[in-house]
Parts: sequence; C-alpha cells; structure tokens
Amino acid sequence: MNVVYADNNATTQVAKKVLDEMLPYLETYYGNPSSMHTFGGQVAKNIAMAREQTAALLNASPEEILFTSCGTESDSTAIQAAIKSNPDRKHIVTTRVEHPAIKNICEHSAKNEFHVTYVPVDENGTLDLDYLYKNLTDDTAIASIMWANNETGVIFPVEEIAAKVKEKGIVFHTDAVQAVGKIPIDLKNTEIDMLSLSGHKIHAPKGIGALYVKKGTKFSPFLIGGHQEKGRRGGTENVASIIGLGTASELSKNLMEEENTRVKEMRDSLEKGLLERIDNAIVNGGKEKRLPNTTSIAFEYVEGEAILLMMDEFGICASSGSACTSGSLEPSHVLRAMGVPFTAAHGTIRFSLSTYNTMEEVNFIIEKLPPIIEKLRKMSPFWKKNQ
Ligand SMILES: *Cc1c(COP(=O)(O)O)cnc(C)c1O
Repeated sequence: MNVVYADNNATTQVAKKVLDEMLPYLETYYGNPSSMHTFGGQVAKNIAMAREQTAALLNASPEEILFTSCGTESDSTAIQAAIKSNPDRKHIVTTRVEHPAIKNICEHSAKNEFHVTYVPVDENGTLDLDYLYKNLTDDTAIASIMWANNETGVIFPVEEIAAKVKEKGIVFHTDAVQAVGKIPIDLKNTEIDMLSLSGHKIHAPKGIGALYVKKGTKFSPFLIGGHQEKGRRGGTENVASIIGLGTASELSKNLMEEENTRVKEMRDSLEKGLLERIDNAIVNGGKEKRLPNTTSIAFEYVEGEAILLMMDEFGICASSGSACTSGSLEPSHVLRAMGVPFTAAHGTIRFSLSTYNTMEEVNFIIEKLPPIIEKLRKMSPFWKKNQ
C-alpha cells in the first residue's frame, strides 16, 4: 500500500545520506572509541566530527554538546542537573503544554518535595509571560519552556524568556526537539543554558539525542558510569547513531530553507484545502507564530480516532493530538490547556509534513478527508443536535 506520511512530528524517515554515513560504523568500524588500539580509537575522531556538525546546527561549541539516547533523556538530564546543582532550590517552572518528556518528570519531581508552576496558555496557545515572570522566585531551580509545541506547532519566544529568567539567576532549559531543523537557532546569542534535541525528529534514527549545556553551566550527570562524554554521560557511545545525528544536523542546515518555503507552502495548501471543503473546522493555534510543517485542525463533532482509522484505509498517516495521548480517550492536555471545547478537541487531527512529502500527497488528503468527515458526522449524535 502507498503510504502518505503526514506524521513527521511523531518521527521522520531516516535520510538516505544519514544511513549511508552510518553503515560503515555498524559493518566495518565497530571498535570501541575508548579503546587504546587504533582500530577502536580512530572512531573517536568521527564522533568528534559529528559533535562539530551538531554544534554547528545550533551555533554552539562542540564541547557544549552531549550525546544522549533520545530527546526524553536530554530533558530528564537537564531537569535533574539543575535540581542537583542547586540543592536548596525546590521550585520548577514549566508550561501546561510541554511534551510528556518534561511534563512527567516535573510531575514526578512534584512527588519528591518539589513544587511546580505550570504556566498557562490562552485559546490561541500563547504563553502567559506575565504569569511566568511573576512566578520566578529565589526558590526556583530551573525554568523549562519548550521552543515549539509538538501538537500545534506554536512557537514560544524562548530567547526573550531566557534573558528574563537569567536576570534572576535561574537556570533556563528549552525542549527544542520540534524547533531544531525547522526554525533557525543561534545559541551563541542567547541566554539559554540547556537545550534538548532528538535525532528521529530530524531524519536521523530513533534512539539518539543531544543536550546542549552552555559553557559554565553547573552540571551533574544523569547516567553515572564510564568517562564517556567527559564524564557527563556514562555508557559506550552509540557510534553509528551519533554519526547519523551529525550527518542529519549537517543536512538540516540546508533543509531549513526548504522547510520554510516548499514544506510551508504544502502545509498552507493542506490547511486551506481542508477548511474550504469542511465546515466547522478550526486550526488550533492558527493565529500564533507556528512551525512551518504543522497544522492541528479540529473537526467539530467527530471522533479523531475514527478519522484516523478511516484515513488509514487510504494509507494516510497522521495523529490525533500527540502520539502519546492517542489510545486514551482523554483529550490531549495541550488542547485542554488552550480551552478547546470538548467537541472540538476530540475531533482534532495533527498533520505534520516534511521534505519527503509532495503536493500530490497533499491533494490526495484534501480529496479523501472531506467525505470521511461527512460520513462520520452523519453518524454523530452531537452533530445532528447542533445543526
Ligand atoms: C518527540 C519529542 C520528545 C521526545 O523525544 P524522544 O527522542 O522520542 O525521546 C520530546 N519533546 C518533544 C517536543 C518531542 O516532540
């Protein structure tokens, strides 16, 4: 079956160039980079190269990049490092719309003597900055604010926030997993202390991530073991995937332009085409600055899960809310935080495109989805009641 993959915020296809660069490290150069012999030790040079490539994408220095196993590990590491390095501070500031990788570590910390402030958003997904700034105290160990939301694509002004947070001497972290490779990031000119990214959201494989730790930031390792990553993250390096992340970072620099032109045009066409053909459809976060590839559309009075199943018959892949919330019937916490009415949150579908999509695929979705919504609405008791 032909797959129309419009779920790139969940994961992306590994780029051919990334795979090609990785394979030699699985087939031939399998030595341990920590070994004394040349066969193993030579691989360390390639890791150093990948670190440079990853740093370059962020305009950071290679020493500021730590390789991890995923975006989730980077997020957990950042929170734990800030907490451990500031032992008398017991307060965390974050938002109500974070990815579970931040949301759940904060909730977990709240069970262990920490108190957490969740900054609200309005119906457009705009963050309440006054609320954020008012809640920064002498007790705050870290403020962790995502750069771009995975469900709606809404972008937060993290550079501006970081500056305010640093004025108060508080550590600032951002989960930039969705922002990296889609919007320009220049860390040399920001007050951001730590930043998380993940390989599989930028056409590298799953199971590789990175954490940027600004020079001079107090740090405490999350994985304690060998001396790898200068003692900041124990465990033998995932060499092939590190090479893959470096290559993907290199590719991202060029892809960014395309994300903001061709990919954005496809997203805009998709949105326009669907809104023209389907009544009672609203773009969640549509009034805010958004990622160029993402659209979250609420089709009122229908079930998102039912839409997904019917699109699946045509090979169309998308998400209802975030991948992590589908499977449960609770509307996503992001849409709830935005105050999206129940009848709209339940019928929300997120489409997220990438450079591998084509306008033909976009038109295919525009052709197939309207009759699906019509059919489901005919069966919906809510729809009838409201007509
Ligand atoms: C995907 C994602 C993560 C988690 O990254 P993994 O590599 O899958 O652990 C964290 N934050 C955001 C915003 C994401 O989209």
